[in-house]
Amino acid sequence: MTDFDSDFNCDVAIIGSGPAGIGAATALAERGVKNITIFEREEHIGGIPRHTKHLTFGLVAFKRPMTGPAFIKKILARCKNVTIRTNISVIAIKQDSTFEVATAQGLQTVKAKHIILATGARESTRHARLVSGMRPRGIVSTAALQQFIYSFGARPFNQAVVVGTELVSFSAIWTLWRAKIKPVAMIERNHRITAYRPAVLLAKILRVPIYYNSQITNIESINTLKAVSIMSDSGVKQVLNCDGIIFSGKFVGENSLAVASHLLLNPQTDIPFIDENWQTSDSDVTVIGNAVHPADMGDQCYLEGLKLGSFLADKLAQNTVNSAEFIPIEHSSDIKMTTPNMVRLDNETSKTINICFHVSKIYWGLVTVKFAGKTVYKKRHRCMPARRITLKNIRLDPFDINDKTSIEICFS
Ligand SMILES: Cc1cc2nc3c(=O)[nH]c(=O)nc-3n(C[C@H](O)[C@H](O)[C@H](O)COP(=O)(O)OP(=O)(O)OC[C@H]3O[C@@H](n4cnc5c(N)ncnc54)[C@H](O)[C@@H]3O)c2cc1C
Repeated sequence: MTDFDSDFNCDVAIIGSGPAGIGAATALAERGVKNITIFEREEHIGGIPRHTKHLTFGLVAFKRPMTGPAFIKKILARCKNVTIRTNISVIAIKQDSTFEVATAQGLQTVKAKHIILATGARESTRHARLVSGMRPRGIVSTAALQQFIYSFGARPFNQAVVVGTELVSFSAIWTLWRAKIKPVAMIERNHRITAYRPAVLLAKILRVPIYYNSQITNIESINTLKAVSIMSDSGVKQVLNCDGIIFSGKFVGENSLAVASHLLLNPQTDIPFIDENWQTSDSDVTVIGNAVHPADMGDQCYLEGLKLGSFLADKLAQNTVNSAEFIPIEHSSDIKMTTPNMVRLDNETSKTINICFHVSKIYWGLVTVKFAGKTVYKKRHRCMPARRITLKNIRLDPFDINDKTSIEICFS
């Protein structure tokens, strides 16, 4: 390994070239920060939207619908004075803002003043969902399906079953249909779809049956995938012939780098602790985008990147360090994750924050936030798994730092 003689050394290193990473680089450069490098493990930059040719990007950031590639082209046009290095995987983050990269030439250690992790999210595999059966070819995620079809022009199978009913699952049946691959069925563990109800219309138009309260019990194959067996909660069994299965959604943050590093992780979620400015337990490392809130829309991640870039430009100019108390935000397992998941508060200044979260189960009712025993927020919300819920303007007053405390979100 080469130590500190690297051409790659920079002031701000951004790991991941999706909308979040590009947004952060753009705002940093526009605010006068020099020597910014984006490191991307793939050959091309742009992250997930590069493979998503649906008109579902740009609505929030540019007030008009765009395909993923058009959205990336547009945001890249504004991203000037930034070095972009592709085909480089970052394989470890260390203290003192150093990290290791793997390139075609070998391994290197790189030094930066600040590191931004913008590594995105991935869909859960069949193994993470504990699906048994054979392991033939033809089992992919939606992201891989879209890469096959839109980037490589390949048609990996002829008829496929989609597991899940999140927004991305409907994106999967639409992609299959456009590629002239028959979407055989959608399989949902619950009694209703996870995405907003109107998404069912797309399945109806494309004549794709949705099997509710059902799950895969077996994957049948000899050499190639032949069929899946499913069973409903009431014991009804079916065999669906198919040569492809798409395990869609159930996103998890791509946080392998953080998990293997010195960064403190929220034990409930294994996501790094981040405050309202995306700062981790290490002042020199921030984490943004889908890595910390899988899976929000591309526009949200881009706008978040822009905000972080502006914040960081000021912080680097002032050379400040984080000294305030670190207070975790706690919640039940019905909440998948919150952003932020901790707050820094000193014993002199009040702070007003917003907290965003996603739920794993439907909840309509009161959401309460308690801080140091006091209720600081109480409002009714319709919490749906597909929806990002924002609790706005939560005022946190200074507290006695000798009283170890937490912020708690309760459904009551
Ligand atoms: C299949 C699918 C369909 C979607 N469809 C839509 C849609 O229609 N509309 C919409 O608004 N949103 C959609 N989304 C969500 C949208 O793509 C994300 O919100 C957005 O891409 C997140 O941006 P990001 O920058 O956080 O991460 P990503 O776009 O995921 O980018 C992360 C980047 O980091 C790189 N990376 C990861 N680890 C490393 C490493 N160790 N070293 C170097 N590079 C690394 C990855 O290669 C990737 O390029 C979809 C997501 C998926 C998965």
